[in-house]
Amino acid sequence: GSNHPLSGSKHLCSICGDRASGKHYGVYSCEGCKGFFKRTVRKDLTYACRENRNCIIDKRQRNRCQYCRYQKCLTCGMKREAVQEERQGIHRD
Ligand SMILES: [Zn+2]
Ligand SMILES: [Zn+2]
Repeated sequence: GSNHPLSGSKHLCSICGDRASGKHYGVYSCEGCKGFFKRTVRKDLTYACRENRNCIIDKRQRNRCQYCRYQKCLTCGMKREAVQEERQGIHRD
């Protein structure tokens, strides 16, 4: 759907479909998914899925399963290394 009040941005979050705020860690993503991925990598968090590891991750349900959200981040191409490099203060772009 393109009747989002904030539509005007060309890009949607690859993970949840919300409006992307730009390319983060290699993937167009929203601030929510960007922050989620960053936290996960920096704190080295591990999650467990209570379902069958195939939960739907969209704007409404993205907080329901952290395991599947993180897997989707990786599937979409988000790079753990990019978070680690950012932490070390390496900026290449
Ligand atoms: Zn998102
Ligand atoms: Zn899940």
